[in-house]
Amino acid sequence: MREPDRFDASSPARRPVKLDDTDRPLRLGEGRISGYLSVAFGTLSLLAVLCFIFPDYLTTPSLRAGYDLGVLRTLLAAGMVFSGGFGVLTFALNRRKRLGALGLLLTGIALALGGSAVPVGPRHDVPGFIGLDWFILDLLASALLFITLEKLSPHRRDQPILRPDFWHDGRYFIFNHLAIGIFLFMTVRAVPSLFSWTINAGLQGWFRSLPGVVQFLVVLVTADLMEYATHRAMHEVPFLWRFHAVHHSVERMDWMAGSRLHFLEPLVTRMAVMLPAFILGAGDAPLLCYIVWAGFQAGLVHSNFGLELGPLKYLVATPLFHHWHHGSDKEAIDINYAAHLPLLDRLFGTYHMPTDRWPENYGVVGDPLPKGIWRQFLYPFQRRDPPPPPV
Ligand SMILES: [Zn+2]
Ligand SMILES: [Zn+2]
Repeated sequence: MREPDRFDASSPARRPVKLDDTDRPLRLGEGRISGYLSVAFGTLSLLAVLCFIFPDYLTTPSLRAGYDLGVLRTLLAAGMVFSGGFGVLTFALNRRKRLGALGLLLTGIALALGGSAVPVGPRHDVPGFIGLDWFILDLLASALLFITLEKLSPHRRDQPILRPDFWHDGRYFIFNHLAIGIFLFMTVRAVPSLFSWTINAGLQGWFRSLPGVVQFLVVLVTADLMEYATHRAMHEVPFLWRFHAVHHSVERMDWMAGSRLHFLEPLVTRMAVMLPAFILGAGDAPLLCYIVWAGFQAGLVHSNFGLELGPLKYLVATPLFHHWHHGSDKEAIDINYAAHLPLLDRLFGTYHMPTDRWPENYGVVGDPLPKGIWRQFLYPFQRRDPPPPPV
């Protein structure tokens, strides 16, 4: 649905990425790294304490069932130690004192509210919840894993961790995690009620009798077939492309960039992807393995991780495969729709993954999207002038 020939080659999506002074890479000794880390750990520690105090309002019921309180308290204590330590280091470096002071203030409030010894709050019968625990835990795990990979073997070496639009995508990350209740409602409640007529007890009994690894592989393949179909439709149906264009407006790829999704897109795609597993009646363990794998791969394929993974890159979707999907160069338009298995694109004739180079530019060709999460939410619903006629 992106038609490069109709648009001026000087379109913003085609211009090379330039880094201004505020986007300078972080350097040791100037206090920015320790200041940001102090504020980040201080914020997460305070939010974690609030999760302990208001568990019914701020934590995810399906995650709560699997928590080990001792491990969580140790994590919280470690977060406060890191925040305090980095805050003191910022002062010692005598730079960015405001960042250090903010980090120490947040840690102080977390301590005043009880710190890692805070008791778990009383139970309430509440109608809804915010997935603050999911946000904290996934942010810690993803940042630790993907920033390590991106630093060990970066694709673009000159791209800083806090690259332009990082905070913009960070807001999508926050929203997508806090709203997990809505997404869970769609997959755990809406799918069963809408598609109960598809259930066949014989089929489900047979499927559940298969080894777990076979169930996992079948769930992976069928989910990716659904992903392929919905993703391709979003590129080929003009109305749907308006929603998906928000995801393609990313111009710098990293682990955070994949969070940029129009709110309505994951509501639909997650239902579609989970439908085959629901019809087949997949077991809990294979389903959990699939959800963890899908989450990991979603972060990985967008990351600025440059290792091409040898022959494995032909079997599973890697950063090289999905970076080509996000490319705005002519050869990269409308290709590589699969989320997990490049083989599906080979089967349906949409595979394109040169191994001697990566795409030059990323983003939407022509008609650049507005900046800001709210404007991007409204973007698909707004009337726009038709594109200029070809010259
Ligand atoms: Zn796409
Ligand atoms: Zn993507």
